[in-house]
Amino acid sequence: MFKAIYLEKSEAGFSAGVRELADDALATHAADGDVTVRVAYSTINYKDGLAIANRSPVVRKWPMVAGIDGAGVVEASTNPAFAPGDRVVLNGWGVGETHWGCLAGKARLKGGWLVPLPASLGEREAMAIGTAGYTAMLCAMALADGGVKPADGEVLVTGAAGGVGSVAIALLAGRGFRVVASTGRAAEADYLKGLGAAEVIDRAALSEPGKPMQKERWAGVVDCVGSHTLANACAQTRYGGTVAACGLAQGMDFPASVAPFILRGVRLAGVDSVMCPMPRRQAAWTALAAELDRSRLAAMTTEIALADAIGKAPEVLAGKVRGRLVVDVNR
Ligand code: NDP
Repeated sequence: MFKAIYLEKSEAGFSAGVRELADDALATHAADGDVTVRVAYSTINYKDGLAIANRSPVVRKWPMVAGIDGAGVVEASTNPAFAPGDRVVLNGWGVGETHWGCLAGKARLKGGWLVPLPASLGEREAMAIGTAGYTAMLCAMALADGGVKPADGEVLVTGAAGGVGSVAIALLAGRGFRVVASTGRAAEADYLKGLGAAEVIDRAALSEPGKPMQKERWAGVVDCVGSHTLANACAQTRYGGTVAACGLAQGMDFPASVAPFILRGVRLAGVDSVMCPMPRRQAAWTALAAELDRSRLAAMTTEIALADAIGKAPEVLAGKVRGRLVVDVNR
């Protein structure tokens, strides 16, 4: 038996609760998996918040076990690439959406989805990073692919006090960039500076409709927010700079003009973590293990028990959670 965050939809409506499940349930509901993982830790990302609060059609198969991220130890495997005792991390691939997820003591997953956990990362640290932190690294990699270097100028991180934003600040500061953090939570300025931000700005300065071309400031941008914020960030990006777009916390719209792209050669790099090919995933996790300052990671992490995940989901969606939430799925 194992405990899980179990999401159901019936004629009575939607429900989310902690359920004791038998191991057999995995054979029925996650039959296409070939690796059984004893999950140690999971996390609550923005998308998990949407699924648990039933706020957006994230879940496309019912009943569902929530949890798009997990880290743990292989218990059984028919996949030749994995053996019992291997430590693994899982991010995305539709897990927690169309395949039973990792907010659970056990998960049955496809070996092709699993990344061997780098030796220097514990399972708890891996989930403190989670999809949010791995996406932040994909964004940092997108800036590097665009040739953005610390000597080129400042980088902007929007949605700064959230999960992706917090890790992005720590990573980019670690790479030597002068990082400017945009937040709606002025009270978190000291927290953001502790992660490595050199300056904190009010997100209101970016969130309203702006001109198509504005004063050039950013060599690079990590945007977690979308909508007018992304449009303004592009309009303020310096000649030849790169904007990595990964989020939609303000909105899915993109009310921009092509001017920054065709007049300043600004590059807009889309970042997707869910279906990101395995070599880039592994590169991201290797780089996270090598680069991410563990004391900064600890500073952005709060641990909760499995049952607390349900109550935290609306707080995540309301932008009230700072940094990253780690879930001890066995507590
Ligand atoms: P969080 O909820 O942890 O952080 C989101 C942050 O966005 C908030 O903390 C807040 O930052 C800011 N924000 C919230 N509402 C608004 C608003 N109305 N206007 C402007 N800013 C706002 O989420 P994550 O960091 O986990 O994810 C960030 C975004 O990235 C989400 O949209 C998520 O769906 C997306 N995402 C995409 C992935 C991909 O593969 N492309 C993977 C992971 C996440 P502050 O308080 O500092 O202002």
